[in-house]
This record gives sequence, C-alpha cells and structure tokens, in this order.
Amino acid sequence: MARKIVVALGGNALGLTPDDQKAAVQRAVEPLVELVRDGYRLAIVHGNGPQVGLIHLAFEQARQSDPHIPAMPFAESTAMSQGYIGYHLQSALKNALHAVGLANNVSTVVTQVVVDPADPAFARPTKPVGLFYSQEEAHQLADASGHVFVEDAGRGYRRVVPSPEPVDIVEKGAIQRLMKLGDLVIACGGGGIPVSREDEQLISQEAVIDKDKAAALLAELTSADLLLILTAVPYVALHYGQPNQIWVDRLTTREARLYIEQGQFAAGSMLPKIEAAIEFVESRPGREAIIASLENAFDAVTAGKGTLIFTP
Ligand code: ADP
Ligand code: MG
Repeated sequence: MARKIVVALGGNALGLTPDDQKAAVQRAVEPLVELVRDGYRLAIVHGNGPQVGLIHLAFEQARQSDPHIPAMPFAESTAMSQGYIGYHLQSALKNALHAVGLANNVSTVVTQVVVDPADPAFARPTKPVGLFYSQEEAHQLADASGHVFVEDAGRGYRRVVPSPEPVDIVEKGAIQRLMKLGDLVIACGGGGIPVSREDEQLISQEAVIDKDKAAALLAELTSADLLLILTAVPYVALHYGQPNQIWVDRLTTREARLYIEQGQFAAGSMLPKIEAAIEFVESRPGREAIIASLENAFDAVTAGKGTLIFTP
C-alpha cells in the first residue's frame, strides 16, 4: 500500500495577491506531484493566516464607506479562503499532474473542524492573522478596534485571534473515501472552519484553528504514515535568528519537548508545528513528521532534506 502523507502547506508562503498566490502555488505543487508520481497518497492542508485576515479586513474597510456591507465573521472568512486557495491548488495540481501523464482526481473539501467552546484559548488570543504593521500602527488599530496585536517572530505586529485545539473533523469520512480512491484531497484549509457540537448541532465559532494542529489531527484520523509540514525555512533551528543559530535535521519527541521548555520555538509560528509533530508522532508507533521548506518537499521525504521528528 502506498504511503499516505498529510502535507501542511504554509499560508505565509502563498503571497498576498491572487497573482502572487497563483505563482507560489505553481511552485509548490511541482515537488508534490513528484511525490504522487513516486506512489505516495496525499492530503493537503493549507494555511490561510494572511488570506483570512485580508478577507476579513476587506469587509471591515468596505463597511466604513457603506454601512450596508456586513461584517464577515472568521468562520465565513475561513470558508471563503478555503474556496479561494483550494481553487488555485486544485487547478495547479491538475495541470502539473496532467503534464506528467497522471490523471488523479483533485478536489477541495470545505471542511468544518470541531473545537471545544470551553477551550481556554477563547480567553487568550494567540493566532496571528492578516497584515504586518509597525508598532505605532498596531497601537492605533488596537485603540480604534479593541482587537489584540502582538509582535510576530521579528517580522512586525499582527492581529491575534483565539486558536482553540481541533478535536474532530466533521467531513473526515468524505476525505477518507476520496483518499482511498487515489484522489488528491485539499482539506481543513486554514485549520478548518471552527464549529462546536452542541445537542448534535454544529455551531460556528469566532476563532482560527492552527492549520498544523488540524493537519496532525487529519493525519491521525486518516491513518497517515507521515505528517509533512512545509514552510519558509529548510529546517527547524535552535537559537533561531541569533548569531549562534543552528539547523537541526533530527529531533526525538523527547528532545523537542526539552527545546519547547527552553522557549526555542516562537508561539504562533514554529511552536504549533513542533507540537503538531509531537502529537502525531506519539499517536501510534512508527509515525513520523518532517518540517521542511516548500521547495524541498520531495527531497525532504526521499532524501532527509528537512527536520525529522520521531520516537526512537
Ligand atoms: P507557515 O505559514 O508555514 O505556518 P509560520 O510563519 O507560521 O509559517 O512559521 C514558520 C516561521 O517560524 C519561520 O519562517 C520562522 O520565521 C519562524 N520560526 C520561529 N522559531 C523558529 C525556529 N526555532 N526554527 C525555525 N523557524 C522558526
Ligand atoms: Mg503558521
């Protein structure tokens, strides 16, 4: 049986305009198609931090000139970003597959992910979304809107929203069946649309689920062998951004936990990736995770070009 991989694709690497995104997606699908060609089965979870922030912000700003335009909640904004990014991915994948003579079906599943409304994350927003601002702009926006802004990994200030833990995937049955048929599936985009389950009813929640955590859950629920987290850096670093920075190519989950305690991984960027990797790797013996750069996706899986997270 072909190895099953759940790929988490960074939203920050996709660019801000439709043209940028199309070009970025074009580059991203090449190594993924190489994996399909090699016999791997893929489900793809993309991020949407910048994109969901833009969609949300576009409605906010339009409302200032026309009060008839509605505010767009994060659940609906995430649903829109799943369609927007999913469209570009499924189009680029289909073209790239065709170019190498493969005819796999590719589809995007609009995905709802269940969270616990009592999750303490709702009282403590941590997830950066939208544009980067200077410290001064962030202060002005915070005063005007009541939103919370924090510094994001040395790159500027961004709005943060609650990021509760994903506990179930509503459309998991459909995703599993598509994967079983050999289809490529794009699912849980942006971490999924956050919903709670109350009296057997699904109710949307104002939050953005971390896509790396959602990808780990999807990997568990679909019995994947590998969680492949693709981002802007080629490896996980220790002392990231400091003069003594070093790249690490292998991490046991025990070492990863130790480095978390030392504060080696920034909250909202590398930390959720490491946590997602640990969670998946420890969910069943033999499961592995790799954190690597987008362009190295194929070499990360076949030639060790990325950080492998494993249990010895
Ligand atoms: P994505 O959109 O792929 O989720 P993020 O920006 O959320 O990307 O997370 C990846 C970023 O995490 C890297 O580009 C880097 O700036 C940052 N980062 C923080 N700590 C580390 C670390 N210890 N090692 C590598 N990258 C780190
Ligand atoms: Mg991220």
